[in-house]
Amino acid sequence: MLRTILICLVGLLFCDQDCLEAGDWKVGMARVDITPVKPVWMAGYASRKKTVEGTTHPLWAKALVFEDKQGKRAAIVTTDLIGLTREISDAVGNRVAEKTGITRAQILLNSSHTHCGPVVRGCAAIAYDLTAAQQKDVDEYAKLLEDNLTRVIIQASESLSEATLAYGEDKATFAINRRGKINPDGPVDHTVPVLRINDAAGKTKAILFGYACHNTTIGLFEYCGDYAGFAQIALEKKYPGSLALFMLGCGGDANPEPRGTLALAEQHGNSLSDAVIRAMDQPLDPIKGPLTVKFQRTDLPFVDPPSKEALIKQQGQGDVYSQRLTKYLLKQLDQQGAIETSYPFSVQVIAFGADLTLVGLGGEAVIDYSIRLHEEFSGRRLWVAGYCNEVFAYVPSERVLKEGGYEGGDAMKYFGFHGPFQPGVEDRIIQLVHTLLKP
Ligand SMILES: [Zn+2]
Repeated sequence: MLRTILICLVGLLFCDQDCLEAGDWKVGMARVDITPVKPVWMAGYASRKKTVEGTTHPLWAKALVFEDKQGKRAAIVTTDLIGLTREISDAVGNRVAEKTGITRAQILLNSSHTHCGPVVRGCAAIAYDLTAAQQKDVDEYAKLLEDNLTRVIIQASESLSEATLAYGEDKATFAINRRGKINPDGPVDHTVPVLRINDAAGKTKAILFGYACHNTTIGLFEYCGDYAGFAQIALEKKYPGSLALFMLGCGGDANPEPRGTLALAEQHGNSLSDAVIRAMDQPLDPIKGPLTVKFQRTDLPFVDPPSKEALIKQQGQGDVYSQRLTKYLLKQLDQQGAIETSYPFSVQVIAFGADLTLVGLGGEAVIDYSIRLHEEFSGRRLWVAGYCNEVFAYVPSERVLKEGGYEGGDAMKYFGFHGPFQPGVEDRIIQLVHTLLKP
């Protein structure tokens, strides 16, 4: 008896892995370089007048596949890209399901929203005025991207090995609310959530970390991961042999501050990786299973669309993007007989037992979503990510919708929507999260 107690005490004293037991989890991981081989027009800033001229960072798609004791699986994929589309994510999901049995609903695909990556076909379709040759390059890249994303998840699913999961967090302060350019008094969340994946021997194999801030320190003419790219590189250097994956939060209305140079992107990247390292230096909370994964869509209606007569009258009016939108909507009317009246918004939930719940929202969600969800679910540990599965438009809260401006509705035109959303957008989304988080 005494011997047992002593062994337990020694175990507690020398428990350098936060007292985690191997055997709860198997985790697989993989990475694939998604830097375009052929130069593809750059995404994010519609005003660019020339094409890409080089590569500061290779762009990556990185995948983690988790399997709990019961064999239930979930995949998380991060990408150094402006955003994915529903078409691409669904196509990847269906292909992976066929090969591995991991269903579409079990796969979360997040985008870092770097503005120094290639145009992704269908993401902000109106923003770029591409020639036929440039469009062909974009189409070819999209096909390759679909192949690569499928491949990276399959590879991760084939490399499952025993692992322990642990969670911690810290803060990085370079995000600032950007409503009306710079809004130091506006809401922002500086939390840096960190999920550490160690192998059975206690070595760090992967680090999933997040931050809620536009990944827009710079607008280079080179492929570059921006601050998120620098942070991932710094972490993979600090923990040799590991995979560092950045997951963007609800950063729709936050920018890095200050911004404008590559040196600042590196500085912010280092602030973020330092926060991750600080979190990892503390005792982390063990994360146990079982996994629960849910995925559902809810229609977010737009205000009433313009009539054909109104569109015909509008032709040639407004800025170049408004003119393109009018043309685009007239074509939609011709081809489909109607203008789209809503978007099927996605919410995805990955619960790691009672220890951590990841909520993945589609689109460029603003920080109010994360703040409200943390308040309404204060009894459980939430990690709320935006930019999941598809970047189809900004997702304003009710407050931002009412205030209007870029994220409130003005930016809808770049995405090919007449917009803005009808009132009630925030409650529709929050209600769906509640539905999915019910036991
Ligand atoms: Zn954006």
